[in-house]
Amino acid sequence: MASEDYVRRMSDALRSGAKMLAEICPVCNSPLFEVDNELRCIRCDKPVVRVHEETEVLAASTPLVLSKLENALSSKIDLLTSLLQKSADPDEIRILSEALASLVKLFHESRRLAETLKKK
Ligand SMILES: [Zn+2]
Repeated sequence: MASEDYVRRMSDALRSGAKMLAEICPVCNSPLFEVDNELRCIRCDKPVVRVHEETEVLAASTPLVLSKLENALSSKIDLLTSLLQKSADPDEIRILSEALASLVKLFHESRRLAETLKKK
């Protein structure tokens, strides 16, 4: 959306009785509006679910972030494992092993965190 468009819609919203709030949109950081008892972001043109604490935002988005992380990690582990299989150079093997060790460690930490979040 062009920014003139955004400003126009914002003033339209205010004219029709919407209230500008101190809270901001978690997506685009624009101020949120209360329109007919609903919280809306004018820029995203979407209703926004009010989240009181930043930790709640984190808890809500963490499982998704973790599964993305795990996907990335497992594809790198896969890649490095196949490189390791082919490698005959001691230095390369050492570097690959170290990289794999930290990837595997991170993977386990991510799994553990995901389990902890599930228990709540
Ligand atoms: Zn927004």
